[in-house]
Amino acid sequence: MMLILKRNMSVTLLLLCVVGLSSSIPLNDVSSREECGYESCTKVNQDELNVHIVPHTHDDVGWLKTVDQYYYGSRNNIQKAGVQYILDSVIKELWQDPKRRFIYVETAFFWMWWVRQSDDVRHKVHTLVRQGRLQFVGGAWSMNDEAASHYQSTIDQFTWGLKKLNETFGPCAMPRVGWQIDPFGHSREFASLLAAMGYDGLFLGRIDYQDKRARLKQKRMEMLWRGDDDLGKSSDIFTGALYNTYSPPPGFCFDVLCDDEPIIDDPNSPMFNVETRIDSFIKYVLEQRNNFRTNNVIITMGGDFTYQDALMWYKNLDKLIEYTNMKSAKDGLKIKLFYSTPDCYLKAVKDSDPTLPTKQDDFFPYASDPTAYWTGYFTSRPTTKFFERQGNDYLQMLKQLQVLGGLEEHNSFVLNELKSSMGVMQHHDAITGTEKQHVAHDYERLLDAAVEDALIIARQAFNKIAQRDALKQPLFGYDRCRFNESSCPTSENSRRFVVTIYNPVGWIVMEPIHVPVLDGAYEVYAPNGEKITSQLVDIPEPVKNIPTRKSKASHELVFIAKLHPLGVKSFYVKKLSKISRRDVVYTNEYYGNINDYWKNLHDNFVEIHSLNDTNVDHEFKQEQIPLPIAKVDAKVNIEKDINADILKDKDDNVDVEELERIIKETKTETAVKARSLDKKLNYPNLNEEELRMLADEAMVVERADEDYLENEYMKIRIDNTGVTHMILPDRTTNLKVQLHYWTGCYGNNTNTHERSSGAYIFRPQTTVPYAMTYRNSGTVKGPIVQEYRAETKENAASVLRIYNGLNYFVHDFVVGPIPIEDKVGKEYVVRYDTNVVNNGEFYTDSNGRQMLKRKLNERPQWNLTLEEPIAGNYYPVTNKISIQDEQTRISILTDRSEGGSSLEEGSIELMLHRRLLHDDAFGVGEALDEVAEGKGLVMRGHHKLLNINPKNAIDVIAERKLVIQTNLQPIVFISSADNVDFDTWMKLDNCFKGTKELPDGLHLLTLEPWTRDSLLLRIENYVDKSNNSTIEIDLSEVFNNVKIISIKETTLAANRWVEDVEKWTWKVENEFSESFNLEYNNFDSVPRARADAGEATDDRLKIQIKAKQIRTFIAKYKMVES
Ligand SMILES: [Zn+2]
Repeated sequence: MMLILKRNMSVTLLLLCVVGLSSSIPLNDVSSREECGYESCTKVNQDELNVHIVPHTHDDVGWLKTVDQYYYGSRNNIQKAGVQYILDSVIKELWQDPKRRFIYVETAFFWMWWVRQSDDVRHKVHTLVRQGRLQFVGGAWSMNDEAASHYQSTIDQFTWGLKKLNETFGPCAMPRVGWQIDPFGHSREFASLLAAMGYDGLFLGRIDYQDKRARLKQKRMEMLWRGDDDLGKSSDIFTGALYNTYSPPPGFCFDVLCDDEPIIDDPNSPMFNVETRIDSFIKYVLEQRNNFRTNNVIITMGGDFTYQDALMWYKNLDKLIEYTNMKSAKDGLKIKLFYSTPDCYLKAVKDSDPTLPTKQDDFFPYASDPTAYWTGYFTSRPTTKFFERQGNDYLQMLKQLQVLGGLEEHNSFVLNELKSSMGVMQHHDAITGTEKQHVAHDYERLLDAAVEDALIIARQAFNKIAQRDALKQPLFGYDRCRFNESSCPTSENSRRFVVTIYNPVGWIVMEPIHVPVLDGAYEVYAPNGEKITSQLVDIPEPVKNIPTRKSKASHELVFIAKLHPLGVKSFYVKKLSKISRRDVVYTNEYYGNINDYWKNLHDNFVEIHSLNDTNVDHEFKQEQIPLPIAKVDAKVNIEKDINADILKDKDDNVDVEELERIIKETKTETAVKARSLDKKLNYPNLNEEELRMLADEAMVVERADEDYLENEYMKIRIDNTGVTHMILPDRTTNLKVQLHYWTGCYGNNTNTHERSSGAYIFRPQTTVPYAMTYRNSGTVKGPIVQEYRAETKENAASVLRIYNGLNYFVHDFVVGPIPIEDKVGKEYVVRYDTNVVNNGEFYTDSNGRQMLKRKLNERPQWNLTLEEPIAGNYYPVTNKISIQDEQTRISILTDRSEGGSSLEEGSIELMLHRRLLHDDAFGVGEALDEVAEGKGLVMRGHHKLLNINPKNAIDVIAERKLVIQTNLQPIVFISSADNVDFDTWMKLDNCFKGTKELPDGLHLLTLEPWTRDSLLLRIENYVDKSNNSTIEIDLSEVFNNVKIISIKETTLAANRWVEDVEKWTWKVENEFSESFNLEYNNFDSVPRARADAGEATDDRLKIQIKAKQIRTFIAKYKMVES
């Protein structure tokens, strides 16, 4: 452990102490009764009303204050909240009386507190946990949001939180229920994940007010929720919506933060109030009882940051319990109060064996009153949402490289830092964008620092792979660039540079790479030394004008990289013309140079040489020469221009032959019948007029300036109104891409009609958005990429783009600063209008995984009254939204979470950015008015548009893969090669393949170091259930340099062996449907779900993975020569 970075040394030592302690706790003075889990619950009598008093605190991992401000209780002028005092105080009070109970939820805070405690306190906490007096519920790093969060990050943050609990306390700390009491709506995928983690139940605080009203009336607050139709029974989980969100009964908040009356039991006091207080409490619990099916009620005693003075609570709760039970005994009320936990409540409900209603959809969108649809936060803070998604991409890469690179174990420190910050980002006020501005900045700071620290893993791995020796002095800096601003000092300032790309998915990916450069001529070389086709494209003005951009790059060098599964690949780039000094402005202020980097990270064992001795003139500046917009009109000559070289890796000659065959076929226009995303095809042999006839249906007006973007898969017809058609070999789809904006309502929020649109709430003023007028700002055509560019005067710009060889259409957009001179907040959306006949139905993904059918102005389980026809039809889109008819499915893949809908027939709408001038009065107390460099924040992002035949299984698989690739995009690093000549570079290992290509249908969801000789492995089946959807994989065949010796299966979050889990079964009112999506609005004809077919059996390392299943293993392994 001596090589641990110095600046982290003290914390590391602290952690070591903790680990050491957990195995050295003396067990001699443990009290007589040592039972945790359900065994520790108070025994209930189902013949009386059991009132479960559950003391709890809700500690947001950042919201109005930062994580640290909340922990320490600083800035109490913003909010009186200090988590350290809560835990200090609660532990002390629990210790006083074995009857008392407490639950804790957010492992991020618990861990901050735990590492700072004395042995004595830790000892007491251990005892409390072992005796079930302190129970963990939820137990993830934070209480994650369920709309914007991605399933991969949810699984990761559960794994991380539960691992800490498990390592510290063992099985007694294992949470048994999910506790999602504050997130603003609930996803079906989350229910499925929780079931797969082995949880027995899930409690929710916020559900739609109309839904809640109906459920209370029909005693349907508690239900059996099926998380995934393909997974069936194994994804079922008991779900209870809480009666009063997570608050105490009115008048019974005994916190320093509350003003409620204490229970005064001195009969001589003029303020004696026991009788009246007990009566009103009993009245409340009886009302609650009337809305539920069993003789148990759960009373949440706590709230936001409550229990800083736990004695106040326990003193009063002790009295409440004592006097109520006394009165009950005296009057024969058959009511019994006792300290309890959600686990114990759930167990009591289970033991009374109720018949439950079922649920197969989700709890989105969430409305708390007729004008408060919490659908704005699906898009709020779009740049934070993008950064979070990038954080996940980095985390997956670094976990994989730590294993594949066979790197030193001490890297786990920086990896854990990144896991923690990603766990924090999942919190329901972080990724949601519903925090104060200074908190948002703090989240970004935390994640950025964690990414930067953890990148040492990538740099070590890349160096070790390239030089085949970890200890050789690194040749390259592997700099991280701001590609979303088309900015990269290293490529801008180097005459020769190396592009190193990591592909985090387990199959071959063809990825367009855009490298910001100065004007000039460049050559790009693949690892085998061959020059490959590239194209220089000027950077659009709206990108150059992004206020935070500090770059002199005028162009992007674009080429297509063929990336291997979990592979590292490098390309060498030379600038041909002599570098003109005028362009060189040294702007390394954000990134530091290579010397600083290695100095900071390696000063124990790396000798630093100056790698920066190319004499860049820092003084000499000359004004930049304005560049004309590239306008190459020549049609692409596919035979001549197609980028064949991309496939010519050292050992890929088979592919070259294949490609040459395809080119030949393309040239001779061989008709190919079956169309699929995998097979390149030709257009029907029609001239443009005929194509237009095909396309038209009398809608297209012939225009003199019409033009096409085209590749081997599609033609995109454009005229002076923009894009009009997408023409495929077998069909044509009308397509219009149009930016609009909504104007936000504003008012004083004193009643529902005075509600403002804000960080949480979307509330537009009109029912039709304002269409922005597009102005064509250029067309680009070249051998790699073709673009149509357009701008609006409202500060939004689009680049509509296709790449040769890639079967999707890209919309790259820059939005902002959103103008507010008129003092009106605005929400910018894009609409993709098509002629698809979707009958008001559309599909949105659930956390990036399963798709759920949505129907305009409807909800599946209750009759909807909709006062907000726009906001009330918005749903979270984590990765994908689609509409379809018999022949065509249009899917939009997003690069971050956004809100989306289909408000008009054939149309998909996605919200891109929001700038609002009023608070919506749900606590933030600030308007969502993001500013950078003194101007409204500018965001840049992209959508991929796919047009497939929904009945074509190959298309559907390819679409799934592209969704995963869009979430886990290849990660690009740029290194100066001014001191590494081409021949030296050629001798390096520039093409590393981490795994064999996985079979279609399987995704390597997790590969991470677990213990010294084991790793954590998750394999996901992403196909829908069919007769042949179970896929086999031999884990001994997957990796090239990792030999899997043995595996043992765990639950999804890797804190229990699968064999130890016993799934509860419940009686249900009605059988589940085979498919919610088929059943919604088609109730009569869909069969009931069948019992699951028998488990497929594994054969040692040959495992079977069923449709939609994720299987998790801890695998013993060793490194081998690849
Ligand atoms: Zn909260």
